[in-house]
This record gives sequence, C-alpha cells and structure tokens, in this order.
Amino acid sequence: MRKLEDLVDTYLHKGLRKKLVEILKEKGITDEAVLAAIHSIPRHYFLDSAFDKIAYEDRAFPIASDQTISQPYTVAYQTQLLQIKKGDKVLEIGTGSMYQTTVLAALGAKVYTIERQKQLFEQTPTYLFKNQYPNIEFFFGDGFEGLPLLAPFDKILITAAAPKIPEKLWEQLKVSGKMIIPLDESETAQRMLRLTKKRDGTVKREAFDAFSFVPMLEGKTQK
Ligand code: SAH
Repeated sequence: MRKLEDLVDTYLHKGLRKKLVEILKEKGITDEAVLAAIHSIPRHYFLDSAFDKIAYEDRAFPIASDQTISQPYTVAYQTQLLQIKKGDKVLEIGTGSMYQTTVLAALGAKVYTIERQKQLFEQTPTYLFKNQYPNIEFFFGDGFEGLPLLAPFDKILITAAAPKIPEKLWEQLKVSGKMIIPLDESETAQRMLRLTKKRDGTVKREAFDAFSFVPMLEGKTQK
C-alpha cells in the first residue's frame, strides 16, 4: 500500500489537476465547492503508480478486483446532484478507490461507505487521508442492505449500476433526503436519477444524463 510520505504532488500534477477542473467546467459542472474539492485532492494517489502521468485525464481507470475508479466527470456530476451541506450524513455504496469518498469528506459530509469486494475493503485501514478526513467510516458488506443501525441518512450515493431501486436503502433515507442512483436502462447504460423522499413518503423522481458503471452486485466476496 502506498504511504502518504512516499507520495509527491508535483507542480505538474497540480497543473494537470487545474486543467481537469477547467474541462469539468466546460462539460457543465458549476458547483464551485465540488470543483474546489477536485482541485484539492491528488487523484493520482488513489491509483497505481503506473497511472501517475495520466491520472488527470477525464476517464475511469482499473483498480483492484476488476473494479474502476469513476471518471472525474461522473464523480463531479453525482456529487453536484447530491447538494452536500456541511454535516450531512451520507451513505456511499461502492467505496472502490476511496476517491469519491474523499470528495464527499472534503465537502464536510460525515461519510459512511460500504464496499462488497474484500480486497478493496482491506485497503481502507491504510487510507492516506485518515488524519485530514476523520469524518469517514468504512464498512465491508452488501450495499443493498445499507447500514440500518446507523440510519437514517440525509443523502445516499450509489456508485455502481443498480438493477432496481434498493428498497432497504430507500427506507434508510430521511424525509427530504436525496438518493443519487444510476439505474439500469439497458445492458450497458444507466440513467442518473435523483430521488427525493417527500413528506408523505412518496418519491420525487428527477432524471438526468446516461452513464456507464460497473454493476451493483448482491452479497459480498470471500476474498
Ligand atoms: N466510488 C468508487 C467507484 C468504484 S466502482 C470510486 O470512484 O473509486 C463501484 C464499486 O461498487 C466497486 O468497488 C464495486 O465493488 C462496488 N459495489 C458493487 N456492488 C456493491 C454492493 N452491493 N455493495 C457495496 N459495494 C458494491
């Protein structure tokens, strides 16, 4: 596992990160707090050193367990839709590389994040920004179950392609709470939805652009 003291954030990295923020703006990301978080977080720290020079390209990259670190545009898009306020209690499904988790933490959310791949979860005790962002708790489990003992949540973010709206997660959302979910629309594409829980418990459904995520799978892996 990489250690913070061995990593360097050079002027080149910082320059590339600034360019990435400009690209995200051109693609329509307007939330200044989200852009500032992306500007401040060294994405290359979340990737294998082989990706060091390309870490700021606006694309997904492979991580362990055949999973991916989401494309920066996707991270920015989902985070912007969540409308995070400082102190929001956020449940994230799909910890993956911990990059999206870090963006949420940088915005001042209290983050609870679940990963079903043991190999990925086993990397979380060495989280590089433990001291900077103590407002994150990592869980190994099945995101379809959520965290009933810690519910309800202000916001729920699903970072994998969901075959359906997970009922148990919907129950764990506060009234006026929001869930961002990429819901399967075809075999290869998901529709980004923002679901808001209304006072009477019914759902306000807003639909946004189409994306392509790795699948949200039931259960957790043994190794
Ligand atoms: N937010 C991550 C995205 C990783 S890709 C990042 O940007 O790095 C999606 C992640 O969701 C994968 O790590 C995958 O293992 C995880 N995942 C899929 N189904 C899940 C489930 N039911 N519960 C928890 N995690 C799940």
